[in-house]
Amino acid sequence: MNNLLETPIEYLKGVGPQRGELLRKELNIHRYADLLNLYPNRYIDRTRYYKINELQNSNSEVQIVGRVIHIKTVEQKRGKRLVATFVDDTGEMELVWFQGQKWIRESLKLNSVYVIFGKVTAFNGLFNMAHPEMELLADHEKSLRSAMQSVYPSTEKLTQKGITNKTVNRLMQQLFIETQALFKEPLPANLIDELKLIPKNVALFNIHFPKSQELLAKAQFRLKFEELFFIQLQLITKNLIRKHKIKGHPFDSVGAYFTTFYNHHLPFDLTNAQKKVLKEIRNDLGSNAQMNRLLQGDVGSGKTIVALMTMLLALDNGFQACLMAPTEILANQHFLGIRELAKDLNLNIKILTGSTKTADRKIIHEELENGSLHIIIGTHALLEDKVKFHNLGLAIIDEQHRFGVEQRSKLWKKNTIPPHVLVMTATPIPRTLAMSLYGDLDISVIDELPPGRKPIQTVHRYDSNRLKVWKFLKDEIAKGRQIYIVYPLIQESEKMDYKDLMDGYEGISRDFPLPQYSVSIVHGQMKPAEKDAEMERFASGKTNIMVATTVIEVGVNVPNASVMIIESAERFGLSQLHQLRGRVGRGAEQSYCILMTGHKLSNDSKIRIETMCRTNDGFEISEVDLKLRGPGDIMGTQQSGVLNLQIADLVKDRDILQLARHEAIRLLKDDPSMNKPEHQVLKQVFIELSKKRNIWNHIS
Ligand code: ADP
Ligand code: MG
Repeated sequence: MNNLLETPIEYLKGVGPQRGELLRKELNIHRYADLLNLYPNRYIDRTRYYKINELQNSNSEVQIVGRVIHIKTVEQKRGKRLVATFVDDTGEMELVWFQGQKWIRESLKLNSVYVIFGKVTAFNGLFNMAHPEMELLADHEKSLRSAMQSVYPSTEKLTQKGITNKTVNRLMQQLFIETQALFKEPLPANLIDELKLIPKNVALFNIHFPKSQELLAKAQFRLKFEELFFIQLQLITKNLIRKHKIKGHPFDSVGAYFTTFYNHHLPFDLTNAQKKVLKEIRNDLGSNAQMNRLLQGDVGSGKTIVALMTMLLALDNGFQACLMAPTEILANQHFLGIRELAKDLNLNIKILTGSTKTADRKIIHEELENGSLHIIIGTHALLEDKVKFHNLGLAIIDEQHRFGVEQRSKLWKKNTIPPHVLVMTATPIPRTLAMSLYGDLDISVIDELPPGRKPIQTVHRYDSNRLKVWKFLKDEIAKGRQIYIVYPLIQESEKMDYKDLMDGYEGISRDFPLPQYSVSIVHGQMKPAEKDAEMERFASGKTNIMVATTVIEVGVNVPNASVMIIESAERFGLSQLHQLRGRVGRGAEQSYCILMTGHKLSNDSKIRIETMCRTNDGFEISEVDLKLRGPGDIMGTQQSGVLNLQIADLVKDRDILQLARHEAIRLLKDDPSMNKPEHQVLKQVFIELSKKRNIWNHIS
C-alpha cells in the first residue's frame, strides 16, 4: 500500500503529464501521498436545506429544494441575462445567469424538482442566486457526494487552467478508489484506544469527504494529534540523543573566576530568577552532555550578567567563550557591559565586528588561536573561516531569531567537540510555541525583573495632541531626563520614511532649540563611526533628545532616558513596540512610553496599541502578537517554514500540542528506541518522516 502512495501524481486517472506538472508547481503535489495530504481549507455545509422564507441577505451559501416555474431573457443596456423564477412551498426567488444562457435555457427542466446551491443576495425585496449549482433532486439523492463539501487550497493559475475545486474533489475520489483507502495505521493501538481516536483511514476519508460535522471534528482531531505527535517524537528523540551521544566538555569545576566574581564583584544581588537560571545552566555544564539551552528573558531582565557568569564557568575549566550578537551596536553594548562587569578579573576580552581594523583583527585571530584571548564578543564576523579558536567551550548567541539555524551550526563546527550553546532571546515566545519550535533545546526563563523598577506607563496620543506631548517632554527634560523619539523605517517605503524622519528632526530641533536643548539623530544611512559618536553623545548626557529609526531597537542602554516616543506607532509590530519600550525604564525614575498615531487606525493597530497600554508583560504581548500574526511571522521567514504544518495550528491547537507532547514523552519513556513490536509501524513512519523533515539536523 505504501508503495502505491509513492506513485507519481500524473499516473492518477484524470491527471496526466500536463496537470501533473501544474499540481507539482502550484501545490507541491508530486506523489499520491501529497494529494492525500492536501487537506481542505474549509467545508461547505450541505447537510442543511433552506426554505425560501428563511433566507437572509447574508451572502452565505445555501441550498434549497424547489422548482423553476418560469424562465425569461431580460435585455439590458449592458447585455442580456437569463432570469428564472424558482419556488418552493414558502415563497419565490430568482435565479440569474449572465453566461452560458443558451445552454441553460435548453437543458433546464421546467417544473422538475431541483436542488440549487449558491450565494443569495436580496435585490428589490426579492432574493436571487447568480449562477447556482443545480442538480435534479433524484440525482442529488443518488449521488455519493458527502454532505460537507471540501474546499481545497488553490491558486489562480490552477483555476485558469481549469483545475477547479470540483476537479480536485474528483481526483481525490479517484485516489481513494485506486488505493481502496487502505492506509496504514501508524499509531499504536493502545494510544488509539486511550485517546479514543478514530482509525487513520477513517480520519483520512472524513477529512476529505466528511459524513457529518461530528466525524469531521474527529478526523481533524486525529490528524492534528498525529502531526504534532510525530514532531514531538522527533524533537524529544533528538534531545535524548544529544544528551546521550553528543559529549560536551564537562565543566566540572567551579573555579576562581566564577567564585571571585560571585563573592567580590557582583554589582547587585541576583534576582531569584537569575539564580534559578544559573543553576539550570550549571547543571547542564556539569553533565557530560552538550548544553543546548534557550534563555528567555524580557528586555531588562538581566541576561547579560547570566551570560558573563556562564562564560566564567567556561574559563574556569580552561576554555574560551564567545558571544555573538546580530548587530554591531548590540555587540558593542555587550562588549562594554561585560568588560565593565569583569573589570577586576584580569581577563583578555575583545570585540570583533565588520569594522574591526585589519591590524586589530590579526591580533585577535592570533590570540584566539593561541588561547590567550579569553572572551570574544562580536557579530557575524565571528563566523568567518579565518576565525579559529584554541578551545572554544561555550558559544552564547543573543537575539537568536535574527540568526538562521545554519549560522548557529557554523559556530559548532569550530571545534571537534561542539561547544555548549546558550541562546538568549528577549522576544518572549509563548511556551507552547517554544516547545514545538525549540523542543530540541532546553528552556530557561528569567521571569522576574530586577527590583526597584517602576513599571513603564504607556499611553496613546493622537498627532493632534502633539503640543501637549511636547510640553510633557520639556517638563521631563527640566527634571534632567532624556528622551527617545523613534520613527518607523520600513524597507518598502524607505524614501518616504527618511523624509519623515528628517522632517521630524527639523521640527523637533525647532521646538527644542539650542542652547537650552540639544538633539541627536541616528539612522541607518549614517556611517558606523558617526552613529557611535552620536549614540555616545546621548549616552553621556550631552544631548537631551535622541531622534532615531529602529536602529536603537535592541540592546541600547541609557538608564537616564525615561521617555520613549514612538511616532506612527500604528505601523510597528507588537514585538517591535515592546522592544522599543524596553529602552526606557532602566533607571530608578518613572518612565513613560507615548504611542503617537493618526486618527485612522485599523482594527489590528487598535489591538496592538491597546495591548501595549494595558501590559508590560512580554509574554502576554507575544501571545497577542501570535494571535494577530500567526507563528510563522513571529519567528521570521527563516523559521516559519521549518515546521511546515499540514493541518495543526500552533495557536489554535495548543491543547492538542500539549497532549501530543505528553504522549510522546510517555511513549519514549516506556520504549526509547521504539523497538517494541507494537511500535514497529510507528517507528517505520517516524524514520520516513525524519528523512523528509530533517530540518532539525541543522540544529544538532
Ligand atoms: P537584558 O536582559 O535586556 O539584556 P541587561 O542584562 O542589559 O538586560 O540588564 C538590564 C539592566 O538591569 C542593566 O542595567 C543591569 O545592570 C541591571 N540588572 C541586571 N540584573 C540586575 C539585578 N539582579 N539587580 C539590579 N539590577 C540588575
Ligand atoms: Mg541584553
